Amino acid sequence: MPEQHPVRIGGSEVTTAESTVVLSPYDGHEVARIPVCGPEHVDRAVAAARAAMAEPLPPWRRAAILDAAADAVAAHRDELAHLIAEEAAKPIRTARTEAERAVLTFQSAAIEARTLTGEVVPMDGAQPGDGKLAFTLRVPRGVVAAISPFNFPLNLVAHKLAPAIAAGCAVVLKPASQTPMSAIRLHEILMDECGLPPGWVNVVTGSGGTVGDPLVEHPDVAVVTFTGSPEVGWGIAAKAARKKVGLELGNNAPLIIDASGDWAAAAAKVSVAGYSHAGQSCISTQRVYVHRSVVEDFTAALVAKVEALVVGDPLDEATDVSALISPGETARVKAWIDDAVREGAQVAAGGEQRDRLLAPTVLSGILPTMEVSANEVFGPVVGIAAFDELDEALGLANDTRYGLQAAIFTKDLDAALRAASELDFGGVLVNEVPTFRTDQMPYGGVGDSGNTKEGPHYAVREMTHERLVVIAR
Ligand code: NAP
Repeated sequence: MPEQHPVRIGGSEVTTAESTVVLSPYDGHEVARIPVCGPEHVDRAVAAARAAMAEPLPPWRRAAILDAAADAVAAHRDELAHLIAEEAAKPIRTARTEAERAVLTFQSAAIEARTLTGEVVPMDGAQPGDGKLAFTLRVPRGVVAAISPFNFPLNLVAHKLAPAIAAGCAVVLKPASQTPMSAIRLHEILMDECGLPPGWVNVVTGSGGTVGDPLVEHPDVAVVTFTGSPEVGWGIAAKAARKKVGLELGNNAPLIIDASGDWAAAAAKVSVAGYSHAGQSCISTQRVYVHRSVVEDFTAALVAKVEALVVGDPLDEATDVSALISPGETARVKAWIDDAVREGAQVAAGGEQRDRLLAPTVLSGILPTMEVSANEVFGPVVGIAAFDELDEALGLANDTRYGLQAAIFTKDLDAALRAASELDFGGVLVNEVPTFRTDQMPYGGVGDSGNTKEGPHYAVREMTHERLVVIAR
């Protein structure tokens, strides 16, 4: 039987009597065996994090660790990409891009560590402040509990660890049970090659109920940073009422293409943006509202590109789309496609399932009431609907409980400005798909998409508080 791969808590390697077997979503082969941690491991990990914070790391050391992390992730790019591809069935080229993005995440956090500062307060602007000098200091809030999802098992872990290190906060990380190995390996690299002392990051593996709940509720945890589904995220916020809770949740990202928009460029981008990692991205392009005058052209261009996508083994360099994370998820997405067809949508491409693989699918004539429109598909499905007036398209795009990112293709400045002011989302993109993200930008949603912004510059501010210092003459 293969050996269990330990996790690290404080300076120790931890194994448990029981193992969780991590399986490839593509062909079911065993990727690794990992510990099944329990509440006692959460207690140990939080205690190790508190002990680490008792000896603060000065900002220049945090920056040096983060610079080293960027270099080390770059050096381990292929190894990390291979792990992501195996455990998440993310096609290897896309997995490599994720590893490259994690390099940028660490680089950008190193800049924050070097420049994090408070502000000077103009005390003498009001008479009672006369003669007083005041400024704020950015102080680490305390131990951070980081909980990450399966779909970016490396870079979304980096988006939690890197700003926490920059902020001077120690972390207890609970990675997704389906994809823990990228996180475990990153942790080893940080400790063994980048100078991260024991206790600053601790990993506990186990289910949401067994380790997630005690972690979120632990009295010595000050900050919870969570990326995942709205159901779990808002549940955590309710349980952690006295903590700082940052939630990055789901979306059903809309894209508008108006009559002036470059529909051919949009089709080329959507053929990637709707199907990357089989649509399992929180900003996967899902609903496309196209002006009636160009909807046929756009649909034909998109279908031609989608039918050329290579579906198969994530470790094959040629593959564009592989399996969804589990057979249960594949069955759910297939059922949503079938329901949409029963309710009047037409399959313009794909629609069928072969074993664990769902064909990249384009649906025409989607309605707001269909599951594939109203909820987050999280599968390789793009739905199209025609519109006549921009008002109608803006209304359809806004008709959602989510609000992460939305986009418009247009050459009309007025339409672009209206989209920017009227689309009720955390980010609005013009002549780009809603799936665009670069790692230093402020990224986060409103409504059921969350309550915070990630990107190291923003996350560091969530993980610190501003202490006011007043000096009287
Ligand atoms: P999920 O089921 O909500 O799980 C996310 C994490 O929460 C996992 O580590 C999970 O552990 C843990 N968890 C589950 N129950 C918990 C509990 N009671 N207490 C504490 N932790 C608990 O989400 P997912 O299926 O992995 O990811 C997909 C979702 O993430 C989608 O909705 C997607 O849109 C969203 N997402 C959002 C962003 C963003 O930045 N806005 C980015 C990526 C993904 P187990 O794995 O052990 O169950």
